[in-house]
Amino acid sequence: MPSVRRWTPPHPAADAATLSLWERVDSLVLSLFCVDSDARPGSETVMTRRDDDTRFGPSTLDRRAFLGATALAAAAIALPSPAAAQAIASARIGAASLQILSDGGITLPVSMLARGVPPADVQKVLAAAGLPVDATRNGLNVPLLSLGDDLVLFDCGAGRNFLPTTGLLPKSIEAAGIDPAKVTRVLFTHAHPDHLWGALDEFDTPAFPNATYHMAAAEWDFWVDPQVFAKLPEERHAFAAGAQRVLKALEPQLKRFRPGEEIISGLAAIDTRGHTPGHVSFEVRTGSDSLMILGDALTHPVLSFQHPDWATAFDQEPERAAATRKSLLDRLAGDKLLVSTYHLPAGGLGRVERQGSAYRFVPAA
Ligand SMILES: [Zn+2]
Repeated sequence: MPSVRRWTPPHPAADAATLSLWERVDSLVLSLFCVDSDARPGSETVMTRRDDDTRFGPSTLDRRAFLGATALAAAAIALPSPAAAQAIASARIGAASLQILSDGGITLPVSMLARGVPPADVQKVLAAAGLPVDATRNGLNVPLLSLGDDLVLFDCGAGRNFLPTTGLLPKSIEAAGIDPAKVTRVLFTHAHPDHLWGALDEFDTPAFPNATYHMAAAEWDFWVDPQVFAKLPEERHAFAAGAQRVLKALEPQLKRFRPGEEIISGLAAIDTRGHTPGHVSFEVRTGSDSLMILGDALTHPVLSFQHPDWATAFDQEPERAAATRKSLLDRLAGDKLLVSTYHLPAGGLGRVERQGSAYRFVPAA
């Protein structure tokens, strides 16, 4: 196990930025989804709050965002309700059992799906696949694996401070009859908000109190570096401020690993960097069965497979992310592995097949 580097004091702006973030979710919503020049504030902001959500007072939601959200929500895919909190898919992998728990969903404008590609080209591909051409609805699929003596959660959802349409994981865990205190390990694919921020509960203490948390050393190093702010567009400084805040709270329970290491018997990390500098996937082998937990190595059910060279707005290293997608798809199609993806539909479980010179996602039956 690599030695544990002590906590590096965050960027001086981190605490202020985090505070501001917590207090002004309206601005966060706008800034997160308006980093592309094609994205217009308000009209492209497609999040709305749950009707029963009283976490943020009415005055905190920007009117422009609210109007935009209302208009787009009416035209787009139904948003999750608390009633949707549940295990949405499951599978057996040899002696292990897998449940997929929902943390809600995020709707992204098409302009964020393929950086530098004319929107009309993206829309053509979406239309041919029978998908909406104005926005894409992403689920947040959190895998929970029972393997031997371990109960392993892969990523944590977005928690209560990210977006009003996310943060359902605690309800899903409860609905599945699982005691959070029984989770023995939490393995992170990367430290973006929708994967990391749910690691803390409403008291800002670890939501899985008895778990050991695991993160790739390269991912930890990227986010705790005081210079990380210079590597991100200003609109995404909240990602770094939030990551530093959560990682600081988790540090006493967090171990760092390197790709290739076996975390527990039958479960190893593999290098899938590009989406973030330390992004990893996890390979589970039990008996003759296997499973790959992919996180955000593949994020769209059509574009990631037909055009793996198209980088999303959230790929930190676009060329490396594309190279990772291509080599991963080649391997997954060849090995016919069961995969668990964080943002694909219907729980994100399925397999990869070759289709002409590209690939397609085949959801698990
Ligand atoms: Zn994600």
